Amino acid sequence: MKKVHIKSFGCQMNVYDGQRMADILSHQGYEETATPEGADLILLNTCHIRDRAVQKVYSELGKLRDIKNAQKAEGQETKIVVAGCVAQAEGAEIQHRQPAVDLVVGPQAYHRLPELLAEAARKRVVDTDLPIEDKFGFLPAPKPQVIRARGVSAFVTVQEGCDKFCAFCVVPYTRGAEFSRPVAQVLAEVERLAEAGVRDVTLIGQNVNAYHGEGPDGAVWGLARLMRRVAEVPGIARIRYTTSHPRDMDDDLIAAHRDLPQAMPFLHLPVQAGSDRMLAAMNRKHTGDEYRRLIERIRSARPDIALSSDFIVGFPGETDADFEDTIRLVDEIGFASSYSFKYSQRPGTPAAELDAQVPREVMDERLYRLQERIEHHRQAFNAAMVGRTVDVLLERAGRHPGQLAGKSPYLQAVQIEGGTNQIGDIVQVTIDRISTNSLFGQMVEAGQTAGKDMAA
Ligand code: SAM
Ligand code: SF4
Repeated sequence: MKKVHIKSFGCQMNVYDGQRMADILSHQGYEETATPEGADLILLNTCHIRDRAVQKVYSELGKLRDIKNAQKAEGQETKIVVAGCVAQAEGAEIQHRQPAVDLVVGPQAYHRLPELLAEAARKRVVDTDLPIEDKFGFLPAPKPQVIRARGVSAFVTVQEGCDKFCAFCVVPYTRGAEFSRPVAQVLAEVERLAEAGVRDVTLIGQNVNAYHGEGPDGAVWGLARLMRRVAEVPGIARIRYTTSHPRDMDDDLIAAHRDLPQAMPFLHLPVQAGSDRMLAAMNRKHTGDEYRRLIERIRSARPDIALSSDFIVGFPGETDADFEDTIRLVDEIGFASSYSFKYSQRPGTPAAELDAQVPREVMDERLYRLQERIEHHRQAFNAAMVGRTVDVLLERAGRHPGQLAGKSPYLQAVQIEGGTNQIGDIVQVTIDRISTNSLFGQMVEAGQTAGKDMAA
């Protein structure tokens, strides 16, 4: 068999796309290999969201060129493919900067990989079309043993693209307009995953709660209705979704967090900033108080929900007072975890044209302070778990012999002592201590369930 090495950068959508490309290539006689050395095909699945992510791709390509040349000297032909959002945004420029690249393929065209690779055997190829055909209709299903090897938790793309046009963001340009997969197609994929042992699905999309897929009844279904239907698939015990926009958190979706046992009490709901002036300049179309009121409604539907967010510091024009508004919002909401980034100027976005770019040292200082507050709240959230009994989905063997590792309903990593249960089981665990990144606990023996709290 030929060997392919796939390296994905960036978001969960890229992890999903990387697996789909592996599935396509397995039908072309390729098996995956963990290192680029020795591979016949090396595929970088790239991210364009921040400048640093793009620079990483070019430095990686320099190393891959050396591997390609070394293998050529030993008589082995190696092809290099750049896929993902850098491919979409930079197209032929990639081969201009790194001539060792044989094929550039955008995120909406990778279902054509077999033809494109055949073409790339003769000449260098670029395909960054946004085709009218739906690529999902062309993707082969992975074999059950491949699904099992990927674990009991899986991503399923249900939505792609974005029509929100936040002033800083390249996604509407690299991933195109919003598109929702039909319900039947999503269900077929979830059923296949569940039959192979998947228990936990995360429905993903750049703007997943704007989902509006065609239902089997011909009506347009929203995300909440899709989740209720996915919950009926035998074996699926946990459902999550990401990433959401505050403007698309409708009553039905909030009610699903209250009513649907499979809807996990974890929600990633990026706010980006706490200052209304910055939120308006970012074109987020909501204020800080609107976000706070939304969080109140979500918490009254599901009081124990763990919240998470993305933040950008140093958006053009951000003053110290604006930044203090972000810190205030972080302290008021008390997120269970969050991602935070320095603003990165992206070519082609409206914010890149703004004059008042914030100096790098100011951004560094603000990011440091913000991350300190985020970490404080994350640790407080985790510390409050000690003494509680929660349901844990067993995902793999633990770090030490006799340990198992799994996830809490709040997406925390849990290391468990004892028990003879199987990967894929959901067991009750009493948390007895925490470390920086994990919870530790003991499995509750059958019949010893007293003290179990609502975090089922
Ligand atoms: N759709 C999601 C949303 O509405 O928040 C997130 C999409 S984006 C892939 C993930 C995160 O990257 C964003 O939430 C934002 O915080 C960050 N991001 C996007 N563009 C950025 C930029 N130009 N500079 C810094 N961070 C950026
Ligand atoms: Fe980018 Fe998210 Fe804004 Fe869309 S909603 S433009 S993906 S940050």
